[in-house]
Amino acid sequence: MKERVLVFAALPYVNSGLHLGQIAGAYLPYDVFRRFLKLRGYEVIATSGSDEHGTPITLKSIREGVPPESIVEKYHKLDVEIFKSLNIEFDAYIETSSSIHKEVTAKFLRKLMDNGYIYEAEMTQPFCEIENIFLADRYVQGKCPHCGYELATGDQCENCGRTLEPNELVNPVCIFDHSTPVFKQTKHLFFRLSNLQDELLKYIESKGMWRQNVLNFSKNFIANGLKDRPITRDLNWGVEVPFSGYENKRIYVWFEALLGYLTGVSTVLGSQDEALALWKDRNLKYYHFIGKDNIVFHSIIWPGMLIAHGDMTLPHYVAANEFLNYQGQKFSKSRGTGYTVQQLLDKYDSEFLRFGVLYNLPEDHDSDFSLDEFENRVNTELIDKFGNFVNRALVLAFKKGPVSSDQIAQNGLDVEAEQTIKQGMSKIISEMEGVHIRNAFKAWLDLAYYGNSYITSRKTWDACKKDDANCNAAIYTGVKLVYALAVSGQIFLPKTSKKILSWLGFDEPIELREDLYLPVARLVSKPERLYEKITTKELNLELRVAKVDDVFDHPNAEKLYLLDLNLGDEKRRIVSGIKNHYDKSTLKGKKIVIVANLKPATIRGEKSNGMLLAAEDESGIHLVLAPEQASPGEEVRIGDWHIDTSEISIETFRNFNIQTAKADSKTVPVLFLDGKPLHLETSAGMLYVDGSPKEGIRIK
Ligand SMILES: [Zn+2]
Ligand SMILES: [Zn+2]
Repeated sequence: MKERVLVFAALPYVNSGLHLGQIAGAYLPYDVFRRFLKLRGYEVIATSGSDEHGTPITLKSIREGVPPESIVEKYHKLDVEIFKSLNIEFDAYIETSSSIHKEVTAKFLRKLMDNGYIYEAEMTQPFCEIENIFLADRYVQGKCPHCGYELATGDQCENCGRTLEPNELVNPVCIFDHSTPVFKQTKHLFFRLSNLQDELLKYIESKGMWRQNVLNFSKNFIANGLKDRPITRDLNWGVEVPFSGYENKRIYVWFEALLGYLTGVSTVLGSQDEALALWKDRNLKYYHFIGKDNIVFHSIIWPGMLIAHGDMTLPHYVAANEFLNYQGQKFSKSRGTGYTVQQLLDKYDSEFLRFGVLYNLPEDHDSDFSLDEFENRVNTELIDKFGNFVNRALVLAFKKGPVSSDQIAQNGLDVEAEQTIKQGMSKIISEMEGVHIRNAFKAWLDLAYYGNSYITSRKTWDACKKDDANCNAAIYTGVKLVYALAVSGQIFLPKTSKKILSWLGFDEPIELREDLYLPVARLVSKPERLYEKITTKELNLELRVAKVDDVFDHPNAEKLYLLDLNLGDEKRRIVSGIKNHYDKSTLKGKKIVIVANLKPATIRGEKSNGMLLAAEDESGIHLVLAPEQASPGEEVRIGDWHIDTSEISIETFRNFNIQTAKADSKTVPVLFLDGKPLHLETSAGMLYVDGSPKEGIRIK
């Protein structure tokens, strides 16, 4: 029987669409590795799923006025689509709100309770006396004791980034009714992790082949002493606790989400008992692909849970990638840094994205992603070198017709090419076996570069002016290089490989081995160009400070003004419907904020080159203004994290829910991105709203 191997990717949290950092951190390496194992003949079960509980989801549900189920459903579907588009595949992709997952969790937890690893203890939690409920940390809001930011929550301050406890907040309030919570004792269940200190240290020390980042982090974590962890919390959205007295509490999301792996395998095999039987096998090997922010859960807590359960083999390998950064900042859904995968898929071929991520795979250190570099690499490396080589080699072979390996007379270059293929294949295989995916991909890329230089130095076109064994050798060897790249490329660029292999007459997945055998170089269909080059650029949001130089009445419209604006080294005019709300003298000299890169429009016969930001309520229109010291033309940035506004498309910005909040005794626009507040600011400080409007802000 084939050896069975399990491959897992961490369950993504479904409160917004996936970003590229997650793909680089876990999912693409997972998929490459999974494909590798299958092509090496293993019987693979590979799973992941949506992590659907926790407060970020409930908060979003409250803010958007929809049930958590609908948020979860929306992003689960979206993620599934994204994975499909990227050819990242799973044997089971579960949901943690499913009944099977709840059953798996309950059964597992009961076993831990029976084994003495779960106990009850009291802890202090904020309590809302109006609703008569304990409040999860994020349900308490107040002033940050460190920086004075008013929208800090009981777990962290989004402004200064410090982690907080609910009782540290100045003037804490319940986010639902703004009442002041009291602090009361409440009982919770705890996992006795402290008991497993020695056993887990022994486990980590047996994993010398793991990557250094995982080992260092895990050893340090254990050295600081393992503490028992609460596994229940006061919340109504989550997996129910299977014990009486816990009806109003739910299992902490980290605990049950880890059990998603067990649920995944139970789903594939048909039952939890089958999965547990498989896990009992001491020879079972399984691999976890995760981002580095998830290390402790997979290298310590999850193995701890498995030891506590008993009769379960521990993870063979925990592969944690570092971060893929976006222009020096961490990709983040909640902060809105970088593009979502969907935005990129709308624009680029999925193979380009796989290539771009693999090229910058943050395996042993953080790496950086920028669109310019990405587009440039795809064009110059993937298309110019690999794509061109494949095209040159195959077009010639198609013209020439089938060449069998016994009709050729290979010269020195051909022999060298054969050796290079062999070395390349064996390098790719050995690097993959060590879970060094970045190195394996580099070896593949080197083979592609080699192919490109081979066909140039072999002068195949010249060689084939005569139809002889020398021409045959050049054709055959070129095709064999392409074949090697297509076979090994099945794990990296599956769509590309499938296409090439089909031109060569292969439609099955081809086993990955050092010794590739190609009896005949034959093209069964005419090779096409593999890729189209990237040429376009997306129009992204550009917010700028504009000083109102002059104001005129629109000649043909009662409610419209013509505003002459000064943007530093540029003057422009916009048409705006604020005439009933501002008189000319008030407007002159004001520093307003405009979307500066919209296509010019003609409004009632007058050209308008931009739109301004304003809020509107029953009392009228309130302009969004820049601080007095801001320079005309200056770019407005989003958030205290210095998110580049050029990363956000105008369409996305239009869909943002821009609210207002009080800060420094002014009303400021606050842009809620997945529940987290972001500010709009200039070098001279935050933007503010003229007056105190009650409604959101729009582009006018
Ligand atoms: Zn309350
Ligand atoms: Zn703070």
